[in-house]
Amino acid sequence: MENVELFQGDIALISGANKGIGYEIARGLGAKKIKVLVGARDEARGQAAAENLKAEGADARFVKLDVTDRETIRSAAEWIGQEFGRLDILINNAGIAEWDAKPSTVELAKVREVYETNFFGPVSLIQAMLPLLKKSKHGRIVNVSSSLGSLTLSSDLNSPFADFLALGYCTSKSALNSMTVQFAKELKNTPIKVNAICPGYCATDINNHSGPRSAAQGAAAAIQYATIGEDGPSGGYFNENGSIPW
Ligand code: NAP
Repeated sequence: MENVELFQGDIALISGANKGIGYEIARGLGAKKIKVLVGARDEARGQAAAENLKAEGADARFVKLDVTDRETIRSAAEWIGQEFGRLDILINNAGIAEWDAKPSTVELAKVREVYETNFFGPVSLIQAMLPLLKKSKHGRIVNVSSSLGSLTLSSDLNSPFADFLALGYCTSKSALNSMTVQFAKELKNTPIKVNAICPGYCATDINNHSGPRSAAQGAAAAIQYATIGEDGPSGGYFNENGSIPW
């Protein structure tokens, strides 16, 4: 299903690529000879990440990208269009969380903030990049979701997520999953494939490094679904071992 040769020399944009799982996705795609555009909201952090990737041999460029700021999204799309004329892979990775957020007491302002980054940001980014993805022979969109967005897993009282409460984070990832299906349906008659993935519980800043997996392990599914061949799925929800329940 993975067809790396198809994507060699291609161009991938990763949001939130200056650290954590996004950085490892950029690193993994760069190692596969894919040009990586390191999306980051902070110029110094983004430039440093791109330099580190270049030092390892990747063809990496920093792109200023705050997914809650429509102007940076618009100017990133304009720059990519002028520089490359197309985009082959878009990874919606940037995300934030609010933990210990009981539905009964969480501040709605916090929930809205999480939605701006985890849901409206990815929608805006896809909308802005679609004209460039349509110029690719094989556009791929990967939305970095979470098992915490799975209604099946989180409503199972025997699951590890049974007691987990985070209204903004969990529901924004469920909305991201539903959005994945919406775009996949709209684009079903094009070469573009749109999938959601879960990286698993990884040690990164978002969870104070509490996860048992490494960020590199978390990047594996995104890399896999960014480089699926024409025979690969669209509109699905996966980890690196296959489908996971919605
Ligand atoms: P992380 O280390 O905290 O990285 C988050 C990244 O998103 C950072 O680069 C951060 O940039 C960026 N970001 C946040 N808000 C942004 C914005 N408005 N515009 C652009 N970039 C923004 O966390 P991570 O674990 O790698 O998370 C990556 C993705 O994986 C998230 O979508 C997360 O929900 C998902 N995920 C993680 C786990 C896990 O266990 N770690 C599990 C399931 C899903 P700054 O450095 O500027 O803050």
